Parts: sequence; C-alpha cells; structure tokens
Amino acid sequence: MKTNHISLTFTSISENVALTRLIIASVGAQLDLPLNDIEELKVAVSEAVSNAIIHGYSNSPDYIVFLDLDFEDGTLKIEVRDEGCGIANIEQAMQPAYSTDPERMGLGFVFMQSFMDELQVESTPEVGTTVTMMKHFKQIPISSH
Ligand code: ATP
Ligand code: MG
Repeated sequence: MKTNHISLTFTSISENVALTRLIIASVGAQLDLPLNDIEELKVAVSEAVSNAIIHGYSNSPDYIVFLDLDFEDGTLKIEVRDEGCGIANIEQAMQPAYSTDPERMGLGFVFMQSFMDELQVESTPEVGTTVTMMKHFKQIPISSH
C-alpha cells in the first residue's frame, strides 16, 4: 500500500477516455483491488473525463483535461478538472437523468456517486469544473508491494 501520486494532462479528444480507463485499471491492479472494484473505478473516471470533453469543452479537441490520482492511507482520490464552460446549477446537473443534451441519459454523475464513497463537484461558469472522487479501501492485503 505505497503512497502514490499520478498527475496527467491530456488533449480533450475522446480517444483519451480509453487511456484514463487503462491508467486507473493499472493503479487498481497495483493495489490488488478486486476486478469488480477496478471496473467501477474505470466507469467513474471515464464518466468524469467524458463530461469534461463533451460538456466542458463541447467536444472541441483543442483543450486540456487534467487528471490527478492520489493514493494515500487506504484512500484513492481521483480529481478530474477542465477549464471549460462550467456548470451553472450543480445541484440540478447532478440529478439522476438530468442532461442538457437530449440525446444523453444523464447518468454520469449517478455512476460516479454510486461507485465512489465521496463525490464533490466544484464549478464556475466560464472558468471550469473540478470533480473530486474518493474511495476508501480497508481490506487491501499488506503483502501487496
Ligand atoms: P451521460 O453521462 O449519461 O452520457 P450526461 O453527461 O448529460 O449524460 P451527467 O454526466 O450526469 O449526464 O451530467 C449531467 C449534466 O451536467 C450534463 O448534461 C452537463 O450539462 C453537466 N456537466 C457535467 N459535467 C460537466 C462539465 N465538466 N462541464 C460542464 N457541464 C458539465
Ligand atoms: Mg456524462
């Protein structure tokens, strides 16, 4: 259970959603997490990163997404940040099935909420959005690394 910090900046193209899934899977494997936990982390991360690209940057490939992963004292903290359009009404945006895009399900925040222990959204219109998610792991074998 080594303390670990990973900081990544990447271009706002949808291909990079897959990259973030690989990275979180690798971190989960380092921690010897069960596959089910790894799958849930992959969903939570990819929903937040997709939101940054799709909503924050309106699918424009010209911007940067920031991903920070911190593992310390049994807690994995995931921070996804964009410098995009921001969210005017965070409470409304987090409602299940709420979406500003009629083609979408509005379930991204629901997945993040249900798969993580803590979810915090900070956002300022025209400045950007930071999504911070935490998951606490108590049962990680001491033998792992
Ligand atoms: P789904 O995730 O099911 O494809 P969705 O992305 O619309 O649909 P959520 O992920 O729950 O649903 O997000 C709800 C709404 O919050 C979005 O429709 C969007 O208006 C807003 N939102 C979420 N993340 C951001 C962001 N990073 N920047 C700007 N707006 C955002
Ligand atoms: Mg979404």
